[in-house]
Amino acid sequence: RVKGKWAATLPKHPPTRLALQHFDATYGAQLGPLWPSVRVALLSERKYGALFNNFSHNPHLEELVAQGCRDFISDGAAEASSQPDSECGAEPDSSGVSTATAGVGSQQQPPPRLSPNIKCFVFPRGDVTRFKPARPDKFGLLTYYLMDAASVLPCLALDVQKSHTVLDLCAAPGGKSLALLQTQSVRFLCVNDSSASRTSRLKRVLHSYVPKELLTDDQLRVTSLDGTMWGEVERNSFDRVLVDVPCTTDRHSLMEDDNNIFSRSRVGERRSLPQLQVELLLAGILAACPGGEIVYSTCTLSLNQNLGVVEQAIQLAEENHGIQLQVVSLQPLVQMFANTFHFAPDLHLGEMVIPHLAANFGPIYLCKLRRVT
Ligand code: SAM
Repeated sequence: RVKGKWAATLPKHPPTRLALQHFDATYGAQLGPLWPSVRVALLSERKYGALFNNFSHNPHLEELVAQGCRDFISDGAAEASSQPDSECGAEPDSSGVSTATAGVGSQQQPPPRLSPNIKCFVFPRGDVTRFKPARPDKFGLLTYYLMDAASVLPCLALDVQKSHTVLDLCAAPGGKSLALLQTQSVRFLCVNDSSASRTSRLKRVLHSYVPKELLTDDQLRVTSLDGTMWGEVERNSFDRVLVDVPCTTDRHSLMEDDNNIFSRSRVGERRSLPQLQVELLLAGILAACPGGEIVYSTCTLSLNQNLGVVEQAIQLAEENHGIQLQVVSLQPLVQMFANTFHFAPDLHLGEMVIPHLAANFGPIYLCKLRRVT
C-alpha cells in the first residue's frame, strides 16, 4: 500500500482523477439521469466474454456451458427467429444525417445474417464470475480469447459474407480480427496497425489462435502503416472495412494511471483524437469498394469521438471525394442482443452499448456506412 503523504512523486492530480472529472462534466450533461448508474458501472470490474476459438481442438465448450455460460450470439439469433417479423428490425432508423449525403432507409431492415461459426460466451446478467485464462489445446492453439463481449458487435455488424475481402485498419491487439476470422467467411483479411510493437502483439495473437495454414500470404496480410494514409496506397478495394479507432478508452482512463491519455503530458494528443478518427474513417471509406460497407467503432461514450466523427467523415467523403454514403440501421442487431447488452436510447446515428452493473460491458459505439458510389 502506498503511503500517500510520504510519496513525493505521486501526482497531485492522477490521470484517472482527471478522467473522472472530465467524464462527470461531459457525460453528466450528455447522459443526464443515466450517468450515475453508468458511472458506477464504469468504476466497477468489467465483464468479459470468451470468444470461442473454432480453430482449436476444443475440449472446453462443455466446460464453459457447465459453468453457466451461454453463447449470446446464438441465443440472440434464436430469439430473433422466434419473433414475428414485425418485431425484428421494424424500427425505422432515425439518423439525423442530412439525406443529401446519407440516405437512411426507413424501410424495414432484415435481421442480420450471422455466421453460425462465431460464438462468444458470457455469464448471465448479474453474474460476475471471472473466466479462467484460456488453455492451449494439444496443438498449442488457445481455446478462447477474452474480450469485452460488446466488442464482438462491430464484427457482427460488418456482416462478412463468403468470399469477402476485409480490411481491419486499426487491428492490434487483434480481438476483432480474430472474431472476423471465426466467421470462416473471409477470403482475404488485411490487418493493419500503425504501432510496430502492437503489430507484433497482433501477430502473436493470430499465431496463438489460428492454424498456420490459414495465415498464408494469399489469405492474410499484416501491415504496420499509418492508416490515415491508406487511401494513398489502395482505394476502392475491400468489400468490408472495420475502422476501430484509438479513442479515450474510457474504462482504461478511469482505472489505470499508466499509459493514460488524460495525463497532463498527453493533452494535445487527446484533443486531436477526433481529427485523427475522422482521417482514419475517411481512409477506411476510401479503401472500401463502391457498394462496400464500413463499420466505425470506439470504446468511448464521447459524442465528439462518435457521432461527431461519423458526421464529419460523411461530409468530407462527399465534398472532397464525391462519395455518397448511406447510414445502415443497426436496430435489428440491437433488438437481437437487447437481453445481453444495455444500449443507449435515442442515438440519432449509430448505436452504443452503455455499461450497466448487471451487464457490465462496453462502452462500445458502432456505426455502419454503405458506399453508394
Ligand atoms: N481493433 C483492435 C482489437 O479489437 O483488438 C483494437 C484497436 S485499438 C482501439 C486502436 C488501435 O489503433 C491501436 O492499436 C493503435 O496502435 C492503432 N492506431 C493508432 N493510430 C493509428 C493510425 N494512424 N493508423 C493505424 N492504426 C492506428
